[in-house]
Amino acid sequence: MIPSQFDYVAPESVEDALAALAAAGEDAKVLAGGQSLLPVLRLRLNTPEMVVDLGRIPALREITDEGDHVVIGSMVTHADVLASPLVSEHALLLHETLTEVADPQIRHRGTLGGALVHADPAGDVGAAALALDAEFVIIGPGGATRTVPARDFFLDLFETAVGEGELLTHVRIPKHTGWGAHYEKFVRVVHQWAIVAVAATVRTDGDSIAEVKIGLTNMGSTPLRATAVEQALVGKPATDETVRAAAAAAAEGTDPPTDLNGDADYRRHLATVLTRRAVLAAAAG
Ligand SMILES: Cc1cc2nc3c(=O)[nH]c(=O)nc-3n(C[C@H](O)[C@H](O)[C@H](O)COP(=O)(O)OP(=O)(O)OC[C@H]3O[C@@H](n4cnc5c(N)ncnc54)[C@H](O)[C@@H]3O)c2cc1C
Repeated sequence: MIPSQFDYVAPESVEDALAALAAAGEDAKVLAGGQSLLPVLRLRLNTPEMVVDLGRIPALREITDEGDHVVIGSMVTHADVLASPLVSEHALLLHETLTEVADPQIRHRGTLGGALVHADPAGDVGAAALALDAEFVIIGPGGATRTVPARDFFLDLFETAVGEGELLTHVRIPKHTGWGAHYEKFVRVVHQWAIVAVAATVRTDGDSIAEVKIGLTNMGSTPLRATAVEQALVGKPATDETVRAAAAAAAEGTDPPTDLNGDADYRRHLATVLTRRAVLAAAAG
């Protein structure tokens, strides 16, 4: 289908983008890579009167080292995050996760910020951001900025802390230098959205797990942490037996959907299996 008619602006600064959003009010929509928004417009699930394209704002396309954080602009594409040595060194889990997002074409258009604000529960990057304790920098009308921790960012299905007239400008990731990481995604065919997936990052001390963080994809309306598994693993050896026992609690506190790809019980089972695999692979470096 063809989208309904809309006006289009491509401002060259965040300030101008905010002004365009403020002028259009609730009739405005932000455009990043367009990989999720354009299908929505073509299906007329959303009919904005104004589309504000962030594609000409260079400040949102940078990845910087800010001491104990890696800071990624919201308009950095998946491909550029993947290619970043800073991300590979200090946030390996994000790198590993992005290798599983869609296909190279979509990774060259889709942006980290767009995927996070879109907040599809089957999307991959949310679980990694949650597991890495990322912080989200949001700017609103008049330039007021706030920083929201990942646990408060994802509110519901396709809903985040980014409100009307606001922009996500940066994602701040605390450095996890030296941590192993793995993203275990379960799909029936390549390039499918996750039926369930698990993002795990592990800091080992000798043969033991010193710290572990685990994010779950598609086990509820938002990304979730497998807190019970994390707590059970600290200080334990990274053996198959120990990890298997702890991973049995992976579905605790989750509310997975039932759809054509599987019912909720099937997803709960998948979560335990994928958590074991992800943690063991992450601990192996
Ligand atoms: C065929 C296909 C397969 C895919 N497979 C996967 C997959 O396996 N895993 C996966 O995780 N993703 C997948 N995706 C989605 C992909 O990751 C998209 O890039 C992502 O969902 C949206 O990013 P975008 O930059 O294209 O955002 P857009 O589509 O431009 O925007 C998405 C939404 O976020 C809003 N928005 C964007 N940026 C900002 C901002 N900075 N501030 C405020 N609001 C903003 C927009 O208004 C819109 O509502 C797939 C997409 C396609 C088309």
